[in-house]
Amino acid sequence: MIEIKNLTKKFGKLVVLDGLDLDIKSGGIFAVLGPNGSGKTTLIKSILGMVIPNSGEITIDNISVLKQWEYRNEINYLPQIANFPANLTVVELIEMVKNLRPKKSNENELITLFGLTPFLNQKLGNLSGGTKQKVNIILTFMFDSNLIILDEPTNGLDPVALIHLKEIIKQEKEKGKTLIITTHIMGLVEEIADEIVFLLDGKIYFRGSVADLKNQTNQTNIEHAIAHLLTKENV
Ligand code: ADP
Ligand code: MG
Repeated sequence: MIEIKNLTKKFGKLVVLDGLDLDIKSGGIFAVLGPNGSGKTTLIKSILGMVIPNSGEITIDNISVLKQWEYRNEINYLPQIANFPANLTVVELIEMVKNLRPKKSNENELITLFGLTPFLNQKLGNLSGGTKQKVNIILTFMFDSNLIILDEPTNGLDPVALIHLKEIIKQEKEKGKTLIITTHIMGLVEEIADEIVFLLDGKIYFRGSVADLKNQTNQTNIEHAIAHLLTKENV
């Protein structure tokens, strides 16, 4: 479905993505892992056309994304940092996004699930980080799209909200959707990811399943497996 060929992105002298090749097949959960600053968000934004690569090509269903925008109608995207307008209320923002995106939406179900009803008329600028993240999640999942891209969706969530998020992610997978997710929560990766890639220094250091990663590093714990991957590659 998504094919990335020789993707390079530099910010000034900093090479963030260094000739990356990656293909992501339709259906299932694909986790992009790597330390802070390893280029996960840059990779996601390149797929979305929000970052323009220096070189390389990205195609979705064999169509290049460069200078295109219609394809984004079929993507639900949860940004790592959601800069919501501070003076709007939650319900005003939801209505605004619905007006911008004329697709069927199921926000009411999600508002109930995440307990956001008491916050609907509060201004976004007054919400706690976790509550803002719940709004971010609702805006992402209220539409039906085949590709769902989640950039650190667990940020600031309480344990109950995390359980609901996991349920939704699994439900979307059951429907045959493709999900790309970045997270530092290894328990989540272990629970939901079908495949992982580990980014470091602009390159892919590992690609495979969690079981492959454990086998390759001879570790039973995923955090240790990743630590092992890092030390091994640094020698
Ligand atoms: P990650 O999501 O893996 O934490 P990012 O993709 O956000 O990493 O960032 C990778 C590197 O690129 C970081 O060093 C970051 O500071 C830099 N970077 C990201 N966006 C920009 C930008 N717009 N201008 C300059 N540097 C950037
Ligand atoms: Mg990031």
